[in-house]
Amino acid sequence: MEALNSYKCPCCGAPLVFSGNELHCDSCDNTFPVETMQQMHDGMEAAGGESKYDWEHYEPRCYEDTNEINLANYSCPSCGAEITGDDTLGATVCPYCGQSTVVKGQFEGALRPDYIIPFKVDKKAAMEAFEADFKNAPFLPDAFKSKKKIEEMAGVYVPFWMFDCDCDAAITYRAERVTSWSDANYNYTKTDFYKLLRAGSIGFANIPVDGSKKADDAYMEAVEPYNYADAVDFNGAYLSGYLADKYDVSAEESIERANDRVKNSTISAFNDTTGTYMAVHPEQTRVNFSNGKIRYSLLPVWMLNIRYLDKNYQFAINGQTGKVVGEYPVDKSKKWKYFARIAAIAYAVAIAVACFLL
Ligand SMILES: [Zn+2]
Ligand SMILES: [Zn+2]
Repeated sequence: MEALNSYKCPCCGAPLVFSGNELHCDSCDNTFPVETMQQMHDGMEAAGGESKYDWEHYEPRCYEDTNEINLANYSCPSCGAEITGDDTLGATVCPYCGQSTVVKGQFEGALRPDYIIPFKVDKKAAMEAFEADFKNAPFLPDAFKSKKKIEEMAGVYVPFWMFDCDCDAAITYRAERVTSWSDANYNYTKTDFYKLLRAGSIGFANIPVDGSKKADDAYMEAVEPYNYADAVDFNGAYLSGYLADKYDVSAEESIERANDRVKNSTISAFNDTTGTYMAVHPEQTRVNFSNGKIRYSLLPVWMLNIRYLDKNYQFAINGQTGKVVGEYPVDKSKKWKYFARIAAIAYAVAIAVACFLL
């Protein structure tokens, strides 16, 4: 019997030896077809390498021709937010803190985006979306229903980095299949152990990563998705009547988050293909990105800040779909009034029942 050093027993790790047409483990007495071992070896090799994340370098571009639109810089005296926007914009409440009105200053240059998704939901429609959303919030304080307050919402183009790449990945898993049966005397359970290999390629386009520190990441991810089919080459005219935030998280700083998003989406797509197995545990994961492209884009968001009991409640409304994101507080006094009423009704019912019983 010839020893094959490159093949180790997947059950116990001892070297396998040829025995007839199969490979045999002298240590645990299992046998494996040669072809299966070859496939397993190739799979582990494919999934065992180092992951590579290859992104092109992003070179920021400036506005070459500021004639395309008259831009101004706006700053918030309260939270310090620095925003670029249309020069003709009137008094606008700071979209990030809602505390004060932004102050117009000299345009000091900003980086020109590559793409923009223009606002599709206008202010009236955004206000209606918010009003329809808060109808589901129980015991909502009146401050949130004030038309005057809701009207303060500001249309902001939020900076996002868009990542495109091709992802080629391989993952190995441990998995099981359990079968049970019975005869007249015994119940039987058989567990088959598998090594699974999943390998393939997925193309990703427009993976967004929020490019602003002021906009909360979880928040901005909640306001997605956007339909990127509506993205157009940037033109300053789209900013007319809106604010545009400048990115303060660079493309390089955003790469790690893009890597995580692409990697997690790939893993989850591969995991979805292991459905007929049980106890599936990933072992090795190798993910390679290629043709990684980065673009700077502006996405439309309506921002609304409402203060209640010394706390700021921020709402973001997707300027393309009207999706509303935000948490509503509960007015405790309204809640107690409600429960007091229920208790009173219950009491009345109890009395009625008592009377009936008498
Ligand atoms: Zn063995
Ligand atoms: Zn502010």
